[in-house]
Formats: sequence, C-alpha cells, structure tokens
Amino acid sequence: MAYQKPTCECGEELIYWTQKGYTEESKILKSGKIAKRPYHVYGNEMLVWDRLKCNRCYGEYHIEHDSSGRVIRGEKWDS
Ligand SMILES: [Zn+2]
Repeated sequence: MAYQKPTCECGEELIYWTQKGYTEESKILKSGKIAKRPYHVYGNEMLVWDRLKCNRCYGEYHIEHDSSGRVIRGEKWDS
C-alpha cells in the first residue's frame, strides 16, 4: 500500500514536532550567586517530547509507526 503522509482531522498535513533538552550543573560561588558558566553539561540531544502537530488547528497526535517503520498518526493528544 502506498504511504500516505499523516494528516490532521482538519485535513492539514501534520509536522513532526520535537523538544530537546539538556542538563547543566553549576557551582554556587562564595558570593552566593550561581556561577554563570556551568561546570558540567550533558544530555545535549536528549529527547524530551515529540509528537505530530497541526499548524492550522493546533491538533496534536502521538507518533506511531507502521510495519515498515514509516510515521503514521496515532491517538489524539489530550492536553
Ligand atoms: Zn488540524
């Protein structure tokens, strides 16, 4: 079966949306301030969230994959 790009309930094509995060550890200075430059940064590309999103109606969906590993629309995201 030909692959169909995931679309929203409203008919708009969905986009892949992701948010990545990282962690910083910083020393506290004698002055009581937190050092501006962290001494340890890790998890630069750590994935925090991803989902499929519609830029027309702002609907959001979970990401699923078909048996060939292609992205398909999952359940609607309840916020
Ligand atoms: Zn939509």
